[in-house]
Formats: sequence, C-alpha cells, structure tokens
Amino acid sequence: MQDTERAHLATEGVGYLEMRDYDKARWAYEQSHPASPFMQWLRTAGNVTFAVEDIRVDSGTSPGIPIPATKLAHDEITRISAELNKWPGVDEAAHDKFGASLLLDLGREVGTAMARWPMEDKPRRIRELMCGECEQFTLTVRPPRFEGDHSIVTCTCGYRMTMEEFEQLVDMFKKEDDDRKRKTLADARRSRRKSA
Ligand SMILES: [Zn+2]
Repeated sequence: MQDTERAHLATEGVGYLEMRDYDKARWAYEQSHPASPFMQWLRTAGNVTFAVEDIRVDSGTSPGIPIPATKLAHDEITRISAELNKWPGVDEAAHDKFGASLLLDLGREVGTAMARWPMEDKPRRIRELMCGECEQFTLTVRPPRFEGDHSIVTCTCGYRMTMEEFEQLVDMFKKEDDDRKRKTLADARRSRRKSA
C-alpha cells in the first residue's frame, strides 16, 4: 500500500516539473535570493583569490576586463531569478511552460555554482590589497554568516569593510592595474616608433 503511494507521489510532480526537479528548483529559488549568504559569497568570491583559473574574459560586455567566473555565475543566477519574479512563487512558475524551463535553468545554475565554488567557512587573508587604515596587508575576508550579513572584510586594527566597499576597492585596484598595462603598452609603442 505504502509503496503504491510513494510511486504515485514520485511521478506526480508540480505543474510541468517532475518532483525531483521541483524540489531542486525550490531549493535553488531560496539560494538565489540576493541577500542569501551564498549569493553574497558568489558576488565577491572571485575577487578574493585573484587566481588565474577564476578569471575569465567576458568579451561580450567589457572587452579586456577580466571578470571572475564567480561574478558571472552570480549575474546569471540574478538574471534568471529576476525573470522568475513575473510569477508570485515557485508553484505558479512551475505551472507555466516558460516558468518551468526557467526553474530548471535556475536549479542547474545554482547547483553548478555551489559545486564549483563551495562557500568557505574560514576567513581568508587578502594578500593583494592593503588595509586603508593601518596600511598593512592584514585584511581578511570571510563569507557572510547569516542572511543580510554585510561586513565581510576585517582587519586586525579594527577596520571593517562592507561587501560594497570591498567591491569598489577591487574595481579601483583593477582599473589601476589596467591603466598601468595600457601605459606600458603605449610607452613600448612610442619607443619603437622613435627607434624606427
Ligand atoms: Zn588595518
């Protein structure tokens, strides 16, 4: 008797989604909230390491400027989740063909992102940026501990930075680096022209 019931529930599903996909979509929907710890982590995670494998060039929008793959995943999840806002909730979206396909996309994107970049539970030292207050390389970044937790960068001197301030700093750092490279290139061209 119980077995028949289970088999029946498993094939039932919600709207256009099989139960397994529906469950995954519900989970992904929760995770994709902008204030969720995972989304906050994803937004800045790539900025923390500056590791080569985390950097990818998005030639579509900004040629030559490296964007961390974590940030691209964050933006893609945000885009899908914004489209899903057309429906009041997961169940309503699941009953619409397009909504259901968006839910499948969301489940896949969030699942992949979480597998590729699991949230680190330990604070990590930032070696590339100096503390704005004590000018030592003593900044550490830690993942958000709860929903809406904004202060993620701290220093031993007591200095704290919000995620937004940290992003601005990283942008500045990248822009300076970019300008430096451009200047070096221009200098090289000039000296080549002089010698020619
Ligand atoms: Zn400091």
